Amino acid sequence: MPVAYGEFLRESLPRVRDRIAAAARAAGRDPAGVRLVAVTKGHPVEAVRAALDLGLTDLGENRVEELALKRSALDPSVAAAAGSRWHLIGHVQSRKSGIAAELADLVHSVDSLKLAGKLGEAAAAGDRTLAVLMQVNTSGEAAKTGFGPAEAEEAVLAAAELPGLRVEGLMTMAPFTEDARVLGRTFARLRELRDRLVARSARVGGELSMGMTNDFDVAIREGSTMVRVGTALFGERT
Ligand SMILES: *Cc1c(COP(=O)(O)O)cnc(C)c1O
Repeated sequence: MPVAYGEFLRESLPRVRDRIAAAARAAGRDPAGVRLVAVTKGHPVEAVRAALDLGLTDLGENRVEELALKRSALDPSVAAAAGSRWHLIGHVQSRKSGIAAELADLVHSVDSLKLAGKLGEAAAAGDRTLAVLMQVNTSGEAAKTGFGPAEAEEAVLAAAELPGLRVEGLMTMAPFTEDARVLGRTFARLRELRDRLVARSARVGGELSMGMTNDFDVAIREGSTMVRVGTALFGERT
């Protein structure tokens, strides 16, 4: 049965926007300061078309291959007219850095200086500058990728000096918990790190990519400027 993504999204999108607005207002923030990245991973290209139709221009994929497939399935003139921007949000293997640098408008998941160097090299070779976020493991969970909190500050400063890259900010993933205090601490750590970094270097931007379907309200309260939402917009992935 073909999933009617347009119909689904027409109902889910206003609910997500309401949640974003409520969380922002509760924190005394302007909802316009929170960008909604629609995570289409695990859904067919129909989900992307439905998102663009409804004015969602920021699209997120966690795998380079799937990003390439979705991009090539879209009519370039339609995508350009919609002003679509592709966000790569999952771990990138170094050997795929060339294609990642070519296809992504913003890479959220730069988790090593080696990868940062390779992405920068690839972008510079194409005479471009690639916008990236540095992923930091602020949850303390061993299984999560990203720079450890202790090494992150110097690593981000080093990445910000690399040719071909523009470090626009930081990204983190929260632990799997419903405990709002644990989530809040995880997100607050990223914000505090961001504050130290922007005070130290004009080459580090202030974006904070944090918050997914289950925790974006808490993330917005802690200063998120970009939430990455899949399930709440498109339903469960199969
Ligand atoms: C899948 C994914 C998301 C979206 O998760 P949902 O719970 O479906 O909203 C956000 N960020 C990353 C890095 C992801 O891999």
